[in-house]
Amino acid sequence: MLNSLSVSLCVCVCDSDMPMEKQAVDRARAAFLSGRSRPLGFRVQQLKALGRMVTEREAEIAAALKHDLNKSQFDTLLFELVGLESEIRLAVDSLAEWAAPRPVEKTLVTITDQAYIQPEPLGVVLIIGAWNYPMALVLQPLVGAIAAGNAAVVKPSELSEHTSGLLKELLPQYLDQELYPVVTGGVPETQELLRQRFDHIFYTGNSAVGRLVMEAAARHLTPVTLELGGKSPCYISPDCDLSIACRRITWGKFANCGQTCIAPDYILCNSSIQDRVVDEIRQTLQEFYGADPKVSPDYGRIINQRHFSRVMSLLDGCTVSLGGGSDESQCYIAPTVLRDVSPHARVMQEEIFGPVLPILSVSSADEAIRFINEREKPLALYIFSADNKLIKRMIAETSSGGAMANDVLLHYTLDSLPFGGVGNSGIGSYHGKHTFDRLSHLRGCLIKSLAMEGLNQARYPPMDPGRLRRARFFMQKRVRSHCGGCCVLAVFSSLLALGLLIALLVVLLKGK
Ligand code: NAD
Repeated sequence: MLNSLSVSLCVCVCDSDMPMEKQAVDRARAAFLSGRSRPLGFRVQQLKALGRMVTEREAEIAAALKHDLNKSQFDTLLFELVGLESEIRLAVDSLAEWAAPRPVEKTLVTITDQAYIQPEPLGVVLIIGAWNYPMALVLQPLVGAIAAGNAAVVKPSELSEHTSGLLKELLPQYLDQELYPVVTGGVPETQELLRQRFDHIFYTGNSAVGRLVMEAAARHLTPVTLELGGKSPCYISPDCDLSIACRRITWGKFANCGQTCIAPDYILCNSSIQDRVVDEIRQTLQEFYGADPKVSPDYGRIINQRHFSRVMSLLDGCTVSLGGGSDESQCYIAPTVLRDVSPHARVMQEEIFGPVLPILSVSSADEAIRFINEREKPLALYIFSADNKLIKRMIAETSSGGAMANDVLLHYTLDSLPFGGVGNSGIGSYHGKHTFDRLSHLRGCLIKSLAMEGLNQARYPPMDPGRLRRARFFMQKRVRSHCGGCCVLAVFSSLLALGLLIALLVVLLKGK
């Protein structure tokens, strides 16, 4: 017994020369190179196992999130697990279609060839998550990584430590341990990971760390997806039903205690409706969280003391219309609304990421558009209006990661829409098939036969104007293909069309 203990200790000491993070990456790469993540059957089996984990361990997941963010069991389901379950289901149901060769349009030169895009796995993906939706933000990209046939190293946020610990315990019980290891830890561990070579880095978090991730990735020419944040504006036009608008905004702003990357960061509206906006939000808050949100089971907490102090300091110099109360010992900040906020106020200089909602006055939609365009491109833009033309105009004249009218957050749940930022709010997008494509290499394949060499004369030297004319014609003429050129009927009809075209060309050239 002692002997075996000393042997295993010795192995540990020998291995300890190499950082744990590097060991995990090396094992993941070796597992990827073994080829076992590639067969579609294996991918589906792993995805189903991940789905089983979510269902079977729902209570433990909810308990961890309760510890980390005082998230209610219902919010854990609604905001973290429902989307994840449907992403898994979609991937399982669609994998054969997503992974199949995708036929592309051809030209006359390639008419009889097979031309298609073949999605192929990239290799080893690093997934770094943030703490505000600590399950969904690492597992949703993981669904795409598995579906695309990759290995993936999962690095959850150290700030949501209960969820992070649970992921480290649960994932190896359900998934291939070598292909999909979980590495926990803080900045030093993440930095050690970032020194390793990956084939894609998928990072969710703030822009400052996003820059570090991109710098580290550049050393290996590794492509990145950066899911960042920013200040998402919410314009309320006076023409809309303010009661409904404010109800929806209140829900999206104060869910998870305002710690949602696509929460409306601030409201832009005409000063004539500001009082009513405040009043409608007051009524909705009362309805959602009762007279004292601190005792509501549906109201969350700020993740830690550092973020508590940061959010509280944003209130400096502002007029509090609603809320403003706090309890540092519990990291509690009441839902807070600020009115008549100046664009120069501190609260307008950084992403709030907490339950504080400033209202700024603009005289018109034009001024709102100018205001938005003078700032960094946000992750989301919200427009509340009964006028469809105004909605379309605001979308056309601004830029943001995503845009949504007459509601908030829900565009995140529609997995047919790419979700991601632009400019300062991020690089690349994901969800559903978009994640699969993001974490695949879309390989362009053209398979010719060695037959019909005569057709190639036009592009071979010695060149003359006639040859060039023919080459140009054949290379530029597009032909639609529906089955990648593999289908016998298509080849036959293509050949027929080609024959007719050649005959036509010969007649034309003889006529000259
Ligand atoms: P965080 O502090 O958990 O950091 C994210 C990850 O980066 C963690 O895993 C952490 O270990 C790592 N990290 C932190 N500092 C590092 C460093 N110096 N070097 C290397 N790695 C480091 O999360 P956060 O950044 O506070 O998250 C909040 C931000 O994330 C907000 O800006 C929010 O808008 C954004 N966010 C974006 C999305 C999205 O989908 N676009 C989703 C959630 C959050």
